[in-house]
Parts: sequence; structure tokens; C-alpha cells
Amino acid sequence: MRKPVKKGVITIAFDDAYLDTYRYAIKYLDKLKIKSTIALPAFFIGKTFEKRPVVGLKELKDIISSGHEIASHTSSHPNLFRLAAKDKKAATDEIADSKTRIERLLNCRVDSFVFPYINKNQSKVLRLKTKPYYKSARITSNTPNFNKIPLKAPYSVGGFAVTGKHSLPFLEKLVDYTREKDLWLVEAFHLVGKKNTRSAHRPKPYRFFMHIDDFKKHIDYIVSKGITVLTQKDAIKKLS
Ligand SMILES: [Zn+2]
Repeated sequence: MRKPVKKGVITIAFDDAYLDTYRYAIKYLDKLKIKSTIALPAFFIGKTFEKRPVVGLKELKDIISSGHEIASHTSSHPNLFRLAAKDKKAATDEIADSKTRIERLLNCRVDSFVFPYINKNQSKVLRLKTKPYYKSARITSNTPNFNKIPLKAPYSVGGFAVTGKHSLPFLEKLVDYTREKDLWLVEAFHLVGKKNTRSAHRPKPYRFFMHIDDFKKHIDYIVSKGITVLTQKDAIKKLS
């Protein structure tokens, strides 16, 4: 008997909703009819976050009409773990109010949550705080990690933050592994464009930058492998 073909699932996520990322990366996905998940910090719509312009209402409406998912990435992008230690209510408000704000402003449903910062929100209590408002929550890691199918823990979805130090062959290996083992890989990109910026925290170039030419090559590789690309919301529906 022949084994069923397993192909894995990939989610393309864009954290912080930078304007350049919209102009270059999201627009490229539109050409290929690929849907992504954009993690939006609700207070920064049309403003700057870490000195980089964030998409405004006009771009967000275009993003939604192209079928992408808008996920909440809190209101003010705090370190929720630290905030909750001082003020539990403030942390819960960040989780709940951001959803209401985005839904009201954009007239869309927000089903997914994305924790800000890398590995800083591993608290189970915090993850469970997202449950009354969202269908899933993602935590991001600097190291590659894969979610098993079927998905058992929708409030502990693992994402992998792609940085400038990850080469295309390395990323392609992750895609191959996802496909071979039939896993779910969430690739979290931040700034994708033609020009990098300075880091807001240290006198260095921003770590989470990918040149659009590399991004396009990487997406073309995923497409060439025939892997299903789903938004976070759709992956939860399909893989749970
Ligand atoms: Zn973020």
C-alpha cells in the first residue's frame, strides 16, 4: 500500500506590520495569491514603531481585501511577562483591548494572537489569558521550531523569527524538513524590503531584516515544493 503524501504546512507571518514589508513582501504574496498573517500592534497603526513606519488604515484595508489575516500583537507591544508581574490587569487589557480596537477600526474578525518579543512570554498563565478572546496564540523563538500535526496546543503555537543571519539554503532545509515530516512551520518575518534600518535598541543594523530579493527566492522555493501555505487562523482550523 502506498503511503499518503505528506506535505506539511507553512505560515508566513509578518510581525509589527511595517510599511516596507507591506509594499514589498505582502504585495509579492498577492501576486502569487498567498495569504499571510500580519501581527499588528494596535496603537501603532499609521505611526512609527521602533522608528520604522507601520501600515495605516488604507494599507490594512487593502491587506484584508486580499485575504490576509490580521492578528493582534497587543496594543502597545509591551513585554507582557514583565508587565504582568507588575500589573496583571494591564497585561490582560493589552491582550483583550487590542482585539476590540482592531476589530472596530477595520471591521474584521481577529482570531489570532501573537506575543511580542522573543522567548519572553513563556508563562502558561499568560498564554491562557488569551483563550477567552482568541482561537490561538503564537510565541516566537530565535531558533527553528516546528508544530506537530495534529495540533494539540493552539495557545502555544511556536513561530520561528527569521533574521539576517539565516541563509537561504538554511531556510530551505527547514522547508524540506517541514515537508518530509509533515509539520507546521510558522516563519515570522519582520522588516522585508530594499533597505535595512538601525536597531532601536543597540548601535547595530536591525537583526530582523530580510532583503526583498531573498524573500522572493524563499517564497518561490516554498511554492516549488508544493507545500500548503495557510494563515495562522486557517492552520488552526485545518490542523487541530
Ligand atoms: Zn513584535
